Amino acid sequence: MIGAKTKLIGLLASPSGHSRSPMLHNRAFERLGLDYVYLAFDVNPQQLQAAVEGMRALGAAGFNLSMPNKIAVLPYLDDIDPKAALIGSVNTVVLEKNRWIGYNTDGEGFLKSLEEQGVRVQGRKIVVAGSGGAGMAVIVTCLYAGAQVTVLNRSGKSMDAVRRLKERLEAGYAGRLELLDTERNCTEAVLSSDIYVNATPLGMGEYIEQSPIRESNLLRPQMTVCDLIYEPKRTKLLQMAEEAGCRTLNGERMLFYQAAEAFFLWTGQRMPDEGVYEGVKEYERS
Ligand code: NAP
Repeated sequence: MIGAKTKLIGLLASPSGHSRSPMLHNRAFERLGLDYVYLAFDVNPQQLQAAVEGMRALGAAGFNLSMPNKIAVLPYLDDIDPKAALIGSVNTVVLEKNRWIGYNTDGEGFLKSLEEQGVRVQGRKIVVAGSGGAGMAVIVTCLYAGAQVTVLNRSGKSMDAVRRLKERLEAGYAGRLELLDTERNCTEAVLSSDIYVNATPLGMGEYIEQSPIRESNLLRPQMTVCDLIYEPKRTKLLQMAEEAGCRTLNGERMLFYQAAEAFFLWTGQRMPDEGVYEGVKEYERS
């Protein structure tokens, strides 16, 4: 029941109307009897500073952001978690001692989704195609979890971001990060990988018929192939990987776990899984 002491958490995004987050978090608050409410606000980058100040004035407990606000919010925060600073974007902000602290839970969400399939990244060779917002979160989190990471990218803005990341990382981490231009031959990197991750939009929307891997013979049954895309659930890449006998994973559980990590940062409690996420999907299907 919303009352006079209910704490506010919000999503600051544009558009915000399609988000699953309000349903997911409100169901979890209700299930655990927590006195919070989660609302979605349509906020573009030009309105973001006023919105962040407004959230503070209203005594909100925190908020989520989606692109491009994940980067635009950085100047308005009091501090940024070191991993989020390396990633270069935050998706979750928490009010701690009256200071806005920014976190990025996407990478942890990805790791948790692998762990529940029994896949650990420590000491494994991971190839990540793409290094935009989600790709950078996966790259930094996997490096910190002890993986050897090769990033495949076309030359452009996001490739420069990985170059800057490599310069900023401590030597131990930087030594485990390699960057390859997809214009060159990346066959060897894919063939020797344990885990392949698609962090590009190839496989959704206007690219629905495309896959970041074109030749099926690069896929081996020992590989785990992950696509961060969650709609469609079975992208061209995942179809190819299934046919090659690989273990496959789409982005759906990453989406759940990045929300669960944010929930934990705000409330100190684990987001209940059963019934909450399934309930949201059932509602969407109805
Ligand atoms: P983004 O910031 O736009 O980054 C996209 C990356 O893909 C960039 O490295 C970009 O390179 C590259 N790219 C874009 N178009 C390409 C093309 N036609 N061919 C080759 N490379 C291309 O996007 P994002 O937010 O990181 O999202 C990436 C994917 O992850 C999306 O499919 C999104 O749906 C998914 N995602 C999933 C979750 C989840 O929880 N499961 C969360 C966030 C995102 P350039 O810089 O050169 O353009």
